[in-house]
This record gives sequence, C-alpha cells and structure tokens, in this order.
Amino acid sequence: MNVKSMIATLLLMVAGLQTTGAQNFIKVWSGTRFELFRISEVDSVQFVCLATDIYLSQETLELKESETYQLTATVYPVDADDKTIAWSSSESNVASVDGKGLVTAIAAGEAVITATATDGSGVKAECRVTVSKAGGDTGFLTCPDDNHPHAINLGLPSGTMWCCCNVGASTPEGYGGYYAWGETSEKSVYNWDTYAYGSSWNKCVDIGSDIAGTSYDVAHVSMGAPWRMPSTAQQQELINKCSRQWTQQNGVNGILVTGPSGGQVFLPAAGSRWNGELIYAGGGGYYWSSSLYPYGSYGAYDLLLDSEGWGWDYYLHRYYGLSVRAVCP
Ligand SMILES: [Zn+2]
Repeated sequence: MNVKSMIATLLLMVAGLQTTGAQNFIKVWSGTRFELFRISEVDSVQFVCLATDIYLSQETLELKESETYQLTATVYPVDADDKTIAWSSSESNVASVDGKGLVTAIAAGEAVITATATDGSGVKAECRVTVSKAGGDTGFLTCPDDNHPHAINLGLPSGTMWCCCNVGASTPEGYGGYYAWGETSEKSVYNWDTYAYGSSWNKCVDIGSDIAGTSYDVAHVSMGAPWRMPSTAQQQELINKCSRQWTQQNGVNGILVTGPSGGQVFLPAAGSRWNGELIYAGGGGYYWSSSLYPYGSYGAYDLLLDSEGWGWDYYLHRYYGLSVRAVCP
C-alpha cells in the first residue's frame, strides 16, 4: 500500500464512505451515480459532503399584504460542504423572496417559496405562503357598542369587512335610509319621475358600471373612506362563505349572518321604497350593490333576503329605494 492509498483509505474511514473489497478502489458519488476509481489513478481525492435535507423555519406562512417574513433554512448534515441556498417563488406577484430568504407579501393569493441546495444534490424544501389583504385581522366579531359604524371581521377570504349597521341607521337592527341607485339622499317618492339618473327603463344616465367609492356611492359619501357600497362579488362572497339564520333582533325581523371567523352581522328585513310606499318591511330585505346590471342599464344587482333564503337579483329598477350596507376596504 503506497502513501497515496493510505491517505485515501484514512480519509475514507473518516468520511465513512464505502470502499470495495480491495482497499485501493474507492467508490465516489458523482452527484448522479457511484463511480469506481482505482486509487493510483487519482492524484487527489476530494470528499464532498452533500446536503441531504433542508429544514425551513416555517412550512406555512400567513401574511398580510406588504408584510415581510425572514425564512431561515438549515442544511443537513451539519458538515455539508456547501450550504448555499437558492430561493424562488412560484408566484412572485403574490409573494416574492430575495436571495437571503426574505419573503415579501405582494397581493392576496397563494405562493410556494422553494429553497434549493446549490451543491448539485437537488435537495429542496418548500413553504406555502397565503397572502391576505391588509387589515384583514382587524375589526370586530360583533358590534361592540353604540359608537357606530364598526367594521365587522367575518373572516372572509377577500378581507372585506362589513359594517354593523345599515347606512343611515343608528342601531344594527335599524332599517336606516332607502336610496335609489346612485343617489345619496332620501326622498318621499321613488319612481322614474324623481330618479336623478334616468327617466325611464330605457333612458338611464351612465354613471359607471361600478359606483363604489364614487360620488354616487351613498355609503362613501355619508360615511367617508374607506366605507363604500359592496360590489355584487362582495355580496356573493357573503352568500357563499357565511351561514344565515332568519331571526329577530330587538323585535326586528332579519337574518343573522355568521362568517368563517364566527363574526356576525344582522341584516334587517327593511323592505323597499316604491313610489310613496314602504313595501314588505319585516318580510324581506333588499340591499344595493355598487354593480350595474350589465345586460340592462335600467337595473343594478342587489342582495335579496327573506325567511326562505338569500341571493342576488337584478330586476328591481334603479329608481327603487333600497337599503345599503357598507363594506371596507
Ligand atoms: Zn356598531
């Protein structure tokens, strides 16, 4: 046994690698397969300890928009020669990651952050990041006191929070005001003759397909930012994600809406205003969305509720006086 093979054997013993029966052969992992070398054929033997595992400080993360989180990766075995990690994101428009594992939440959605060893071992680890809209963890689960309006956090995926009271109401069960679509004050008679943005079903003024946050948005005008009328998508999310119970609150009929968080809002069955009358109060509720009905500008979508259920409809003309329940943001 020559000096070179003695050193190689010694190194093999230290590294714990496998030798063949004859001491002057060594098996070396090339990264893809074992290769057999005769000791005399190699001038020097370099033993590289490859990564076998990567552990991330989190396997899942829940962040709000613009929040950051420093992920740390621990490479095993501890004596791996090259512990360099390459970071990447499956959806960098949802969550980005820099070269040191700093995750930045960009927009609501899901992304997978991957840490990959760069030593050729192919070892990787993943962290699933869920980004929600900023402010989603604030708000109340129920209306806490008389200092309305309160933002109620129902735990909706979009982060939308619903107001505790109707626009114009001073209690959660109060009917509040009735507003023609796009108008920002009440009146005594609701019909085409008194409607500010149209004079008949086929003579409507274009005030936009979504009036949320505009000067035509009664929630926005009367309550200020960030309050606004809900879009039909936000009303649909309420229907899809929450349970409802037809009940009474302080003697007023309506539905108690319970969200995924356990948060609750009460929507009174306030009826609607048509001509000079109040129709179906106590029997059903009608709540405008900010969304124009796209197939006939005479109407806009509204949320309809009664003892049988709830849903949205679009057959009420824009001049009807309906309730508005604000959302934010
Ligand atoms: Zn309140």
